Amino acid sequence: MGTTIGRIFDLTVQKYANKEAIYDVRKNQRLSYSEWSVQVNKLANALLAEGVTKGDRVSTFLFNTEELATAFFACTKIGAVFNPINFRLTAEEVAFILHDATPKVVLFEKGLEPTVKAVKDRFSKTSFWHIDGENPGYAASYHQRIAAASEELPDITIDENDLYAIMYTSGTTGRPKGVLHSHREIVEQSLIVIGATKLDSYDVGLVTAPMFHCAELHCAFLPRIHVGASNVILHQFDPKKVLSLIEEEKITKFFAAPTMWNMLLQEDLEKYDIKSLKTGLYGAAPMAPSLVHACHDQLGITLVQAYGMTEMGPAITFLGEKDQLTKAGSAGQACLNHEIRIVRPNENGPSDPNDVMPTGKTGEIIVKGPCMMAGYFQREEATEKALYKDWYHSGDIGYLDEEGYLWVKDRVDDMIISGGENIYPREVEDILHAHKGVLDAAVVGQPDDRWGETVTAFVVKKDSSITEGDLDEWCKNSDQIANYKRPRKYIFCEALPRNASGKIQKFILRKQIEDMFLPNKQ
Ligand code: ATP
Repeated sequence: MGTTIGRIFDLTVQKYANKEAIYDVRKNQRLSYSEWSVQVNKLANALLAEGVTKGDRVSTFLFNTEELATAFFACTKIGAVFNPINFRLTAEEVAFILHDATPKVVLFEKGLEPTVKAVKDRFSKTSFWHIDGENPGYAASYHQRIAAASEELPDITIDENDLYAIMYTSGTTGRPKGVLHSHREIVEQSLIVIGATKLDSYDVGLVTAPMFHCAELHCAFLPRIHVGASNVILHQFDPKKVLSLIEEEKITKFFAAPTMWNMLLQEDLEKYDIKSLKTGLYGAAPMAPSLVHACHDQLGITLVQAYGMTEMGPAITFLGEKDQLTKAGSAGQACLNHEIRIVRPNENGPSDPNDVMPTGKTGEIIVKGPCMMAGYFQREEATEKALYKDWYHSGDIGYLDEEGYLWVKDRVDDMIISGGENIYPREVEDILHAHKGVLDAAVVGQPDDRWGETVTAFVVKKDSSITEGDLDEWCKNSDQIANYKRPRKYIFCEALPRNASGKIQKFILRKQIEDMFLPNKQ
């Protein structure tokens, strides 16, 4: 027994029955906590009627919708394992996840139907439910099933250690792995976020980052439901729409990835009254200190940063409001009840948790805490490696300063080694971001006969007149990066390839370099 996600939801419903819980902008539908609870129970019963039992997976292949939110809580009521799938994946990538997770039911929407059509016949044991009305070729639609289902709370006992979700990593370091989380782990995460972002029932949140990603789901949406706040659900991120919703709905808090914050700042902010907005949460990818300052100055809000990974729930550190400007660039301090160590990286296997680096020295970030995943689904070897000696090995490189603040340098795999020196792309990217003619920048290593690797920068211009010479001069004049870290080549582009959580897909940039500069490769 104990505290489960669904149990807290039921208590919130009792307490805030008539308060607005969610507003789905796409459908223009507002539901109070009690109205929404009815929908949740109906879906839970519809899933039971389909034969879903405790431990079975239920997938959603949806943009941000009321139905995704409803499915999330319906699963928690019947012990089904919730599996939100990234809506940006190709048919083959979705097929990989369906093959791995073998869900009993998949909820999907109209805009994603071509992908579903391409894979559906390969999964004869899975029932595909269309949320946008009746649809020839599928069994009864989502809403037909809901209409026919009972409103009663299902009588199923859920233990706090039962699995609540399986969430797939984005696969930036290999094939996606299904991260398993229990109720207890994510309730702990929710409580930590409530404290760190000072949430209460008077808050009005905006769901704008993808709900399939744990940053939005566990660090923004779920904690707001647990405290009885109201939630505006935006189908997909659109900077103009975000700003007008802040004005119309008096949004007080929301999470966005750094690239989204950057897009908001490119808008004509004078046109909107965004005074209601108090706190902006950012994370999931590095945010350049210049962008933190710009958000603070131009939006007039305080910021809070979360750093973490799906395997940890995700947040393992927070950089709070008060430290934003003095510690800009740091990921902050360990979350409540979390322990972080910096250990000597080991090229031949998991790093030894006891081989701790001195304060200020760089190494692999490892962490221990109550939100640590139960493991990867059907990947014993990968689980053993990731959770070696009960520490989660992040694969990120960083250091702890004298005050215990974590500074994340980069991913081990993205580090550039030039002439035997380690270069962390992020420090070079931060310098480029600070140039006012630069909208976006990414740095990768380019194979080089003499130095092993040299630094190449991909830059999206804000000011079309800037040249390679201007940026080289800028880096030369910066007292923050040594000469060997200066990009030796600049490639100007229209946009950087990013995944749905805002991370730059550096493997695509490396491939581009290979195609451009290594013409003789087979
Ligand atoms: P995989 O590569 O294993 O498929 P993923 O990209 O899906 O993983 P996520 O859990 O989405 O993994 O992201 C975790 C990673 O995101 C962290 O290890 C870190 O590199 C990066 N990250 C998250 N938050 C921040 C932050 N605030 N600052 C810098 N980097 C961050």
